[in-house]
Amino acid sequence: MNIKNNIAKIAQNLPPGCTLVAVSKTKSVALIQEAYDGGQRHFGENKVQELVPKYEALPKDILWHMIGHLQSNKVKYIAPFVHLIHGIDSERLLAEVNKQAGKVGRVIPCLLQVHIAREESKFGFSEDEVKEFALSDRIAALSNVRVSGLMGMATLTDDAQQVRGEFRSLHETFTYLRSQQLPSNVSMEVLSMGMSGDFSLAVAEGSTMVRVGSAIFGDRIT
Ligand SMILES: *Cc1c(COP(=O)(O)O)cnc(C)c1O
Repeated sequence: MNIKNNIAKIAQNLPPGCTLVAVSKTKSVALIQEAYDGGQRHFGENKVQELVPKYEALPKDILWHMIGHLQSNKVKYIAPFVHLIHGIDSERLLAEVNKQAGKVGRVIPCLLQVHIAREESKFGFSEDEVKEFALSDRIAALSNVRVSGLMGMATLTDDAQQVRGEFRSLHETFTYLRSQQLPSNVSMEVLSMGMSGDFSLAVAEGSTMVRVGSAIFGDRIT
């Protein structure tokens, strides 16, 4: 497993303007440091209790992405330093991020998570819901957050047409919102979609940010 080579190979195949987030969940500080030494700066974690000690142990110019489901009562632990929160799946969670960001004097960039997979999921807005919410003045009132785009996960399947269709649909929602008059603290710049198994499809369908774990660090044993 050569982490630096893996990153270089993946990065080579991304279009300009597409950001690679190295998903380091369950992986050690030493492995993250190895990726960092190769020049990688964006890292993603899905658990607050793992993210905080890694933030403390590693160089401070790392840009930490919270990519997993985030519980409201844990927002306060990451508010001082998190670079981008991908998994905003309710208005209530966004309001809590706004509150905690205010306490530490920050404006925290966030993505609204959209439920695009065929599987039943507890998390995320529907495409109709996100179109309504992103345009609403309920977001405009939350001055300590900036909604900078959308995030989605495709169905876990070998059916490439299915996955492609889901990414295409999310891209259409993203494009629709981009064309609208958005609240002042909403912009549609980031479309976070694509993981190890499907990032090529995601990029072909307009992704601007891919979240890749196992293709960089190897399989996770969990
Ligand atoms: C784990 C995870 C990833 C990365 O998954 P890989 O298949 O290892 O690339 C991407 N996004 C989210 C939200 C994750 O939880």
